[in-house]
Amino acid sequence: MNLVLMGLPGAGKGTQAERIVENYDIPHISTGDMFRAAMKEGTELGLEAKSYIDKGELVPDEVTIGIVRERLSKDDCVKGFLLDGFPRTVAQADALETMLAELGRKIDYVINIDVDQSVLMERLTGRRICKDCGATYHLVFNPPAKEGVCDKCGGELYQRADDNSETVATRLEVNVKQTKPLLAFYEEKGYLRNVNGQQDINDVFEDVRKLLGGLSK
Ligand SMILES: [Zn+2]
Repeated sequence: MNLVLMGLPGAGKGTQAERIVENYDIPHISTGDMFRAAMKEGTELGLEAKSYIDKGELVPDEVTIGIVRERLSKDDCVKGFLLDGFPRTVAQADALETMLAELGRKIDYVINIDVDQSVLMERLTGRRICKDCGATYHLVFNPPAKEGVCDKCGGELYQRADDNSETVATRLEVNVKQTKPLLAFYEEKGYLRNVNGQQDINDVFEDVRKLLGGLSK
């Protein structure tokens, strides 16, 4: 079960990743975790990656691919893996294809948690935080009993600057632009499976499960 998980910010990728790895006993491989582990182990590639990160520079693709290769060669990946946050570009996706072929493996599915941008806007801009106790609310999913007031302490609720619509819209645009060619690449390869992310979390996972059911024979 060799999987790549994709989805825009707010699509619910994290939740689905958690459920997939829990249900299918495969490791969740996120780029950040992978880099941290390689640096901590002090592998040659890990140290090389660190030298770029310390300088505030982007880690070159050859180094990233090398680290992914090391990670996918570990024992816990024998049954499969769930890649999250990698690949980010078509060049990386291409390199991943080559690497997996060398390892005698291939991607089964690229699961894209599909949610309209307008819905993502609503999800991502709805967060409100209590000025006094820090409790978090969501205007749609977890609204306070009284608008603008914390249920727990009566404090005033505010919106973080990161959550305002202009910032969120820009973040989404950047992500859409980045993932479009990648989705097209995987569509053409025949790996891409879109899952409707605009349903209840349990129903989203049910769709993922149906999809993966075909693999676990
Ligand atoms: Zn409060």
